[in-house]
Amino acid sequence: MSKYIYFFGGGKAEGNAKMKDLLGGKGANLAEMTNLKIPVPPGFTITTKACLHFFENKQKWPAGLKKELFENLKKLEKSKGARLGDENNPLLVSVRSGAKISMPGMMDTVLNLGLNSNTLKALAKNTNNARFAYDSFRRFIQMFGNVVLGIPKEDFEELITEEKKKAGVKLDVDLKIKHLESLINQFKALCKRKTKIVFPEDPYQQLVMACNAVFTSWNNDRAIFYRKQNNIPDSLGTAVNVQAMVFGNIGDESATGVGFTRDPATGEKIFYGEYLPNAQGEDVVAGVRTPLHFKDLKKQFPQVYDQLKKITGRLEKHYRDIQDFEFTVEKGKLYLLQTRTGKRTAAAAVKIAVDMVKERLINKKEALFRIQPEQIDQLLHPILNPKAKVEVIAKGLPASPGAATGKVVFTADEAAERGNKEKIILVRNETCPDDIHGMAAAQGILTARGGMTSHAAVVARGMGKCCVAGCESIKADEKGNKFSVGKRIVKRDDYITLDGSTGRVILGMVPTVQPSMSGAFGKILSWADEVRRLGIRANADIPRDAKTARDFGAEGIGLCRTEHMFFAKDRIPLVQKMILARTTEERQKSLNRLLPLQEKDFEGLFEAMKGYPVTIRLLDPPLHEFLPRREELMVEIALLKKEKRTPRKVIEEKEKLLSRIEELHEFNPMLGHRGCRLGITYPEISKMQVRAIFQAACRIIKKGKKIYPEVMIPLVSLAGEFQKQKELVDRTAQEVMKKEKVTFDYMVGTMIELPRATVIADKIAETAEFFSFGTNDLTQTTFGFSRDDAGKFIRVYRDLGILSKDPFQNLDIEGVGKLIKMAVEKGRKKRPKLKVGICGEHGGDPASIQFCETIGMNYVSCSPYRVPIARLAAAQASLSKGRKK
Ligand code: ADP
Ligand code: MG
Ligand code: MG
Repeated sequence: MSKYIYFFGGGKAEGNAKMKDLLGGKGANLAEMTNLKIPVPPGFTITTKACLHFFENKQKWPAGLKKELFENLKKLEKSKGARLGDENNPLLVSVRSGAKISMPGMMDTVLNLGLNSNTLKALAKNTNNARFAYDSFRRFIQMFGNVVLGIPKEDFEELITEEKKKAGVKLDVDLKIKHLESLINQFKALCKRKTKIVFPEDPYQQLVMACNAVFTSWNNDRAIFYRKQNNIPDSLGTAVNVQAMVFGNIGDESATGVGFTRDPATGEKIFYGEYLPNAQGEDVVAGVRTPLHFKDLKKQFPQVYDQLKKITGRLEKHYRDIQDFEFTVEKGKLYLLQTRTGKRTAAAAVKIAVDMVKERLINKKEALFRIQPEQIDQLLHPILNPKAKVEVIAKGLPASPGAATGKVVFTADEAAERGNKEKIILVRNETCPDDIHGMAAAQGILTARGGMTSHAAVVARGMGKCCVAGCESIKADEKGNKFSVGKRIVKRDDYITLDGSTGRVILGMVPTVQPSMSGAFGKILSWADEVRRLGIRANADIPRDAKTARDFGAEGIGLCRTEHMFFAKDRIPLVQKMILARTTEERQKSLNRLLPLQEKDFEGLFEAMKGYPVTIRLLDPPLHEFLPRREELMVEIALLKKEKRTPRKVIEEKEKLLSRIEELHEFNPMLGHRGCRLGITYPEISKMQVRAIFQAACRIIKKGKKIYPEVMIPLVSLAGEFQKQKELVDRTAQEVMKKEKVTFDYMVGTMIELPRATVIADKIAETAEFFSFGTNDLTQTTFGFSRDDAGKFIRVYRDLGILSKDPFQNLDIEGVGKLIKMAVEKGRKKRPKLKVGICGEHGGDPASIQFCETIGMNYVSCSPYRVPIARLAAAQASLSKGRKK
């Protein structure tokens, strides 16, 4: 028969710290502390297995659990010399939740269980402290009413507030016995009124009901939400800890508190914590009274302070990580009630990891696993001063971390114009590629529509710019230069602040602080570089981004999207002219004027990358993206016609433009005339780009510097497409090198972003020298999901469990990953030295990076601001695969 309960107490425990799966983190650590002879009140843990059985069997207990419960209760009663419900010497217990992965405050706990009208009297008599006894009973009914009977906390708080008013006191601790007695009666009445259940006097019934409530609290809304946020599986269940009570509320010789062995915000090695005299555990976290600092604990309870410091120091050494602990002092005697690995900010995580290596508590390899790659993001952006008071007016998705304060503007042009002189926040209903200049000039971006993978979010992250996206409660009236949230109107030039780490939109200015890129951070990353096998590159289109990427440690550019260079203000008219050209000659004229501009772009990029490889993708988007919108132009023409004085010629020009736009109109442009299809039908465009690349390279080489260009052909699905484009590149490259009398190595490869290309990867690899997986498009085309429209149903799919993750954020390993793996194998079979990388958004996602390591890619490429994250993730991946550089 299964064992469902594990006892701890009397200096030894049946469980230990390794049994977190079964006992939950709290239970396993209570057992471990007991074994370490640390003063912990005795008790027992009901396993997560019992909890899972409870859920799978219509809330029934497994056979034998009840019996085990009584046996363990007996044991506990014996060790405390008290009995549950005893009228002379009653045992009181707490019933505490505790899952494998700690979910602070998400589930429920009941304290002082075992009290009723009889045991209350005994408690008062034995402690010689009636006020304490009544206070404990009041707390018990309150917690039981909330946790077990489901009555909102506020209902109890309301009664307490009223009672305090009647009594003329401010604090709970100033309530006298008669007030507490009155509250107890009011609470009982409240329970009956709200639930028709009479508050149970029988302690056994109380215990069983509380255990069930703790099981059930695994599925309360908070807990479910927290698990989703933190990717904790719903299938773990919670354990239940039944533990003898110790009392911090038994007078001024008693207290309760929480602490950390190091500062969880900064990582500094200081003993850090808060406590409350004459209080029970929940008072500290709930903020009923402002807690005191450990400095005062040292004064008020010097011996307890020393003992606590010693014990928790020992725990830190034992667990070899920062500890977050709970304690209670009962009449001067110290008890530990919980210890767990402390959650910490990124800055603290880094400092603690490096310090612990210095202290020889952990080694470098362990240190690298002490930081979650995602966390590093926090270190790279300015943050809001956490001490500032703020007025939050709306909440959106935390699309790109960091903080930004500035004046609201509603058009990208205005943002671009004013952005270098003052601080601007660009507010849009949505953003599109031609807003990029405005985004670049703004401090932050706020959009009403779009998700974490929306254009605005992706671009903002790429720029390392704070962005709150999909903030559905705001309505931007872009023409009227204002936005509204409910009844509130925010006008152009009003100040707002965005918190990209939480999605908060705040009215007015909030001071920010620069997070320190401390020496420890650099150290951790250098340790990561020592062990990682994967190369790390960045996606960067302009020299400034390339430089940022270099500063963050990128070893090349994995994707330079040339179209972004065409959106600049001085180029777009030329690009439009080129597109509208009727003849090849006409088109060539515009291309000739674009050539020197492109060349300069590439030169800057090469310069910034200092000899590292640079992968340049030839023009990719459909041409209509560079033209005005059809509907807008139609309106414009209609208005021009109304106005009598408009010269005919102007109208004719516009009409010509419109008819060309109509010719170019596509029903599904993302699957239309784009990528290499453009380069094949308009070879002169590819030629201009290739010429610009190689002329720039020649210049760099003539300056005595190194450069290694890699030309990338987009959206290939047929081997012939690639061949045609490669011939063009080689021919043009030879022409340029001959003319400039310079030779150097380069590569021509392809972006693999269509399922067909993965299937015939061996054929493509006959001529292609590298593959770079464009996983954004590959995900779109494999699923047949449009990235810009999928947000709505992906959310539903996730809620229903059809998808466990958003495939645009975390690579779909089962499907898309399989295609990638197959393409790599086929490609390498044909060309063993085939260079393979990834350049989609997934290149900066730690789980996806792990996959890239598994299938033996050469490098990953991501946004510049994700480069440090990728360096760490790649190191962790190498270490866990046992691979060396
Ligand atoms: P959470 O997981 O939300 O922290 P806990 O189960 O740790 O919930 O309990 C809430 C509070 O009650 C904590 O401050 C804890 O220290 C205190 N507490 C729990 N059990 C006991 C006990 N047996 N005696 C005294 N205080 C307790
Ligand atoms: Mg706790
Ligand atoms: Mg693509």
